[in-house]
Amino acid sequence: MKRPIFTLLALLPVLLTACGDPASVTPTVGGDAVTFADPSPAVTSAGTTVSGSTTTLPTPTTTVPVPPTPSVTEPPKTDVPATESPVTTDVPTTDAPITEPPVTNDVPTTDAPPVIEPPAKVEELPEMGDAPSVLEYSDRRVLYTVEETTLSTADGTVLIRLGAGHALIAVEETEEAVTILYRGWLCSLSADQLTEEAPSSALALQDALGGIYYPASTRLIAVDAGHQGKAMKEKEPLGPGSDDLKAMLSSGTAGVSTRIAERELNLRVSLLLRDELIARGYSVLMIRESHSVTISNAQRALMANAYGADAFVRIHANGSANSETRGAMTICQTKINPYNGQLYEESYALSLCMLEHYSAVTGIRLKKVWQTDTMTGINWATVPVTIVEMGYMSNAEEDELMATDAFRKSAAVGMADGLDAYFEWKSAN
Ligand SMILES: [Zn+2]
Repeated sequence: MKRPIFTLLALLPVLLTACGDPASVTPTVGGDAVTFADPSPAVTSAGTTVSGSTTTLPTPTTTVPVPPTPSVTEPPKTDVPATESPVTTDVPTTDAPITEPPVTNDVPTTDAPPVIEPPAKVEELPEMGDAPSVLEYSDRRVLYTVEETTLSTADGTVLIRLGAGHALIAVEETEEAVTILYRGWLCSLSADQLTEEAPSSALALQDALGGIYYPASTRLIAVDAGHQGKAMKEKEPLGPGSDDLKAMLSSGTAGVSTRIAERELNLRVSLLLRDELIARGYSVLMIRESHSVTISNAQRALMANAYGADAFVRIHANGSANSETRGAMTICQTKINPYNGQLYEESYALSLCMLEHYSAVTGIRLKKVWQTDTMTGINWATVPVTIVEMGYMSNAEEDELMATDAFRKSAAVGMADGLDAYFEWKSAN
């Protein structure tokens, strides 16, 4: 399935605009490659954890939810409470009296972007043909940098510098210039800077498209640990072609009692979810496995799209000015979303399955599936998508609960159960 490139190109001006601030953008892009070539010591490798994962946990007592059918014209029955106005989760909690703990693996700010070296262990991942999903870019040429190459915007702002042998996706080609895609960045390079002399492997795609890819023989889940080391204040369109601009990425909230940063909680649970999914035989794309990345909400969705994810799961925790507010919610688009309303039925089913199973396993009170078209990372998705708001970090009890290893493990199991239930529903429909 080939998708038109205009969606990406539509984002280009904004990405390029955003690139105009090298101090905030470029060094951390280089940091992304550190995860890639030399995984962060804090991250458990998938291989080790899989063997210890339990796949025989009891099925939650809730029944598999029945999502609405396409023929239904009225809004689906959700348990949306009328008591509280929706929390805009992509917006940082501005009134939180919390000083976030320092993130230890932030990349230091330097003037010159570091050179990203290509991945070394090419033989460890299967060839592209073994990948289970229809990859959006699999019918495009994968090109490689001949020597150290600088990716720049049209106005000459340096984005990143790549070592020789990096894989790039050719998006558009003329005799002189090639428009390439590298981890969400679109840039033009002269043709003589590129070669085809390298095998197209899953690793090459990972290098070009970003993220950390764990191919298996079944469905692919894209797991997005919400937020990252640094917010991205530059703006991007709320959806493809939209004039509505929204900050590329907020900094997230923090625990009122534990002072744990949301980005850290999200990442820990996401890594456990990754291991649980791999143990159950899923393919997994991790949007990030470290805090030292620079990936906007739209770019995260584009990555999930590019890999052809069967489900895009975005992990977050909530914050509220009311410290009593508690409970879990999941978020999807509305039926009339102008960008991807056609994915409503699947996204709603995914959201409902995730919420019910997550709540059943963790014991966190089930709040609602919130349907909204205000989330950039949902609107850019061309695959079924949900945001899981695990609980409220502004509620001391939930904050402290979510800080425990036992809870985080159960959260991962509950979410994996939800994904199992979703695909069961999908097979039956
Ligand atoms: Zn968040």
